[in-house]
Amino acid sequence: MKYLVLSDIHANIEALEAVLASATRYDRVLLLGDYVGYGADPNRVVERVRALPADAVIRGNHDKVAAGLAGVDGFNHLAKEAIAWTSTVLTRENRDWLAALPQGPAIVDGAMEICHGTPFDEDVYVFDDLDALRSLRVARRPLCLYGHTHVPAVFRLDAGGEGDGPRGATLDLVGPSRRAPFILELDGGFRYLVNCGAVGQPRDGDPRAAYGVIDTDERSIVIERVAYDIAAAQAKIVEAGLPDVLAQRLGAGR
Ligand code: ZN
Repeated sequence: MKYLVLSDIHANIEALEAVLASATRYDRVLLLGDYVGYGADPNRVVERVRALPADAVIRGNHDKVAAGLAGVDGFNHLAKEAIAWTSTVLTRENRDWLAALPQGPAIVDGAMEICHGTPFDEDVYVFDDLDALRSLRVARRPLCLYGHTHVPAVFRLDAGGEGDGPRGATLDLVGPSRRAPFILELDGGFRYLVNCGAVGQPRDGDPRAAYGVIDTDERSIVIERVAYDIAAAQAKIVEAGLPDVLAQRLGAGR
């Protein structure tokens, strides 16, 4: 089975369409949340996502706020302004779909689960080794996929690290490299915590859309990047009256 992994699309339909045109070889889709917020096409993105052959779909923090299920506490002023705009333009049907999304983690199969922020809290960011270690300890499957940071990362914990405290645990950041695609063979002796990057608002300095493909037969993960029409996405953000910096950051990949 080949899974396409999509996270943090953020109402960027140009980035999503480029990814779907590029990633042709997959069977099912895993959706890690933040379909809306920041970008100018929340309805088109939600409708495109709803039509995908998904095996697991969870919400992100922006979806939760856009659907009216949570307040904007913890959002910076850019996120607040964008989510207020998003709430006004979402159709009732799309808002209801967002409101009904489960929070992670969601189990995909015997070997894999997905979450938005971490497996212990959907709103928490994996920023460092301690966050990664805690996530790996809480995860119920040897491969845990996450999003939220918009930065691709592959953490690997050796099996000796399970359950017996920091001593004996060896955590490594094993990827991705700067060059795409990044390909990783999964080793049964390790547990993995993997962020395949953001489709619609990358923050690792590479403005190209990021996505992942997981092959459960070959036991491999590929993190891929694809160029998209950034200028078109930027123009729509400006036209919608959203903060200019949301357009600029797409060009910088920050
Ligand atoms: Zn996000």
